[in-house]
Amino acid sequence: MAGIPGWQETAFCQIMQNGEQVQSIRLNTRKWEDPHKLSFPVEAAIPWTETGYYLAERPKYTLDPLLHAGAYYVQEASSMFLEQAVKQVLPERERIRVLDLCAAPGGKSTHLLSLLPDNAVLVSNEVIKSRVTILEENLIKWGNCNQIITNNDPRDFTGLGGLFDLVVVDAPCSGSGLFRRDPKAMEEWSEAAVELCHQRQKRILTDIWPCLKEGGFLIYSTCSYSMKEDEAIADWLLSNYNADSEMLQVDPTWHIVETRSPEKSASGYRFYPDQVRGEGFFLTVFRKREAAAAPSGRKVKARLEKAGKEQVADITEWLKPGLSQFYMIQENMVGMPEPVDALLAEIGSLYVRRAGVTVGKWAGRKLIPDHALAVSIQLKHTVNRIELTDAQAQLYLRKEEIQVSGSAPGWNLACYKGVAMGWLKVLPNRSNNYYPKEWRILMRSDR
Ligand code: SAM
Repeated sequence: MAGIPGWQETAFCQIMQNGEQVQSIRLNTRKWEDPHKLSFPVEAAIPWTETGYYLAERPKYTLDPLLHAGAYYVQEASSMFLEQAVKQVLPERERIRVLDLCAAPGGKSTHLLSLLPDNAVLVSNEVIKSRVTILEENLIKWGNCNQIITNNDPRDFTGLGGLFDLVVVDAPCSGSGLFRRDPKAMEEWSEAAVELCHQRQKRILTDIWPCLKEGGFLIYSTCSYSMKEDEAIADWLLSNYNADSEMLQVDPTWHIVETRSPEKSASGYRFYPDQVRGEGFFLTVFRKREAAAAPSGRKVKARLEKAGKEQVADITEWLKPGLSQFYMIQENMVGMPEPVDALLAEIGSLYVRRAGVTVGKWAGRKLIPDHALAVSIQLKHTVNRIELTDAQAQLYLRKEEIQVSGSAPGWNLACYKGVAMGWLKVLPNRSNNYYPKEWRILMRSDR
């Protein structure tokens, strides 16, 4: 690491050896506002974000119903710096389109959804199929409906034309920034891996550049200390494309190292664990100065079957205003805001895994509501609710039976501290637990 901007060898080595594990979470303020009423104490606010907090120690997250209800996300503190870039560059404009290209498991995507206005659309893409599952789970729990989840290689976006106002590339990297958190990552690190990542990062940026609008922004980040994956990538991009490097305002008391790339003097922001309370991270922002490419190739129109008028009328009693288009996708009814529908029509060639919010299935005229609807911020507050005790919430997450008495028959929202966890169907002599079986927790609080 000798020669890397801002690196202070002695302090860095000391902090790596003492092995402190920094714990941090970010609130979903659309579901939970008060950090002091969480199930564990927060220690301090993370300075570069309005919703992130350090914790004094690691709670048993798996056992916390609020995590499963999407009230917060467990995320590394340095990477929340994304907020500064988004807030400082993104214009206050209607119907902004954002692409999070390397999105799983969903840290940046959930953060973006909290930062963007409701009429913006976020496309969260993940190339590795097995990782899309966790991305979907985290985004369902976060509860937004202005989102599309895709499972594509970056090259599949190339021909779409200049669709996006902002593209976030949180690139796959050699991971040296996470050495303190995961010492095993050191064994996998090699100079060859850095070179491989450097080549892959250039390929990803080449593939995605055409789908950024003229004047649009690209946020590039890694959790690597290697200049080859950071400043050298910025130099490469500015040498090959017509773009400006964007400078961010950074409070000096945050101790983030501001760097300039050796060739093009691009502004970059480095996080060292001995200087900030967080892991290694790098972020840089570009603005595209050239005309965006026109869409190329055959336009594939997504064929979606519209939901019936009666079904749409029936569902409005469950939903807050905002969803304007309803489709039947296989047996499920899916609702989406108009800007999501409009963008879907332009990305018909992609493999769309999910869009908007899955409302549920119909059994005759009766709706079987989907879990995504229960945890959606689009669900009306007038739906019947049952407040669970801590012990009942644990049973609920394990998908065991819960005894409830005096509740309205039919569909009820199982809530913990007022936040929806999922559905419970109350029958005359029992209740059915509709928590998704694939998300069921196995851990018990008494072990
Ligand atoms: N942005 C995520 C978050 O905040 O939770 C973390 C993303 S992680 C640093 C990088 C992601 O890039 C991984 O999910 C990985 O599967 C994906 N990836 C790996 N190879 C890729 C490639 N060739 N093109 C695009 N993404 C790739």
